[in-house]
Amino acid sequence: MAEQRDVIIIGGGPAGLATAIYTGRALMRTTLLERLILGGQIIEAYDVDNYPGFPDGVTGAELTDRMVAHARKFDVEIVSRGADSVVEDGPMKRVKVGDTEYVAPIVIIASGATHRRLGAPGEGELAGRGVSYCGTCDGPFFRDKELIVIGGGDAALTEGIFLTRFASHVNLVHRRQGFRGRAGHVKEARENEKIDFILDTVITEIHGDDHVVGVTARNVLTEEESRLDCDGVFIFIGHDPNTDYLTDLLPDCAGGLIPVDANMETRIKGVYAIGDVRTGSYKQVGTAVGEGITAAMHAEERIKELTA
Ligand code: NAP
Repeated sequence: MAEQRDVIIIGGGPAGLATAIYTGRALMRTTLLERLILGGQIIEAYDVDNYPGFPDGVTGAELTDRMVAHARKFDVEIVSRGADSVVEDGPMKRVKVGDTEYVAPIVIIASGATHRRLGAPGEGELAGRGVSYCGTCDGPFFRDKELIVIGGGDAALTEGIFLTRFASHVNLVHRRQGFRGRAGHVKEARENEKIDFILDTVITEIHGDDHVVGVTARNVLTEEESRLDCDGVFIFIGHDPNTDYLTDLLPDCAGGLIPVDANMETRIKGVYAIGDVRTGSYKQVGTAVGEGITAAMHAEERIKELTA
């Protein structure tokens, strides 16, 4: 027997949780599915200092706890499983979660994105043994250690700065001269006396048996290779959207980003995509929340249309 709901939200990051607060409060029977950890990527942020209403900043964990409590207050059901597949069935959608099938007119895709891997030899073998994708989680293990941070976006810059709280020194390695991250973050990193920039450079191998001991770096202009000793390698080179399970529903988008209209609705009526899974997202907590609220408000109208 399929379980009937009004709304199924796939993903429990800020986008999904904001949607849940709105649909729950609007008395829409809402189930939120989260396959890993509520909060998504924000749980890794030590200091969120640009979310409105928190002038002194807030940890990602605290912001998540507050959003989860807020959603639960409106009777949102939270299930610790991910969606296996979604199919269209007339105006309804069927969401498979293990042996359970949910049927709902509204599906909100908010499954976020996963850290991109470098693909260098040694990365997989040494993951958790000096190779990390999360400064907040692992930084404290690297007190007075030498670190490499890879990437040129906001994540590499802000995490690199954060890691100097613990590390004795950070080499920030980026594959070109220009940074994708904000100028203010670049300036702050440049002014940090514990950080050195190694530009036009890629890491081609990570060395170590039981634990990271160094990397091979290649200058992409000169092709010169050098060995850099270090105790840890933090990789921040972007994310890939978690949309593999959408092969039945949106085959051309599975594994990639999902186009939406101004209401966050995909080309399928009643199916929305918000946060890091949609094309054109600014990938901020604030924008994810706004996208979730937009989807929730429009979904309410869709349900009214169906029941009119
Ligand atoms: P991003 O902006 O996509 O930056 C990824 C960086 O990794 C780029 O500099 C890219 O180089 C580099 N890169 C990609 N593939 C690589 C490879 N195979 N080898 C070496 N380098 C590689 O990703 P992000 O930094 O994770 O940020 C994602 C979004 O979150 C952004 O919108 C960002 O503004 C936001 N964010 C904001 C904050 C904040 O405001 N506090 C903090 C974190 C993230 P190229 O530049 O050469 O392509």
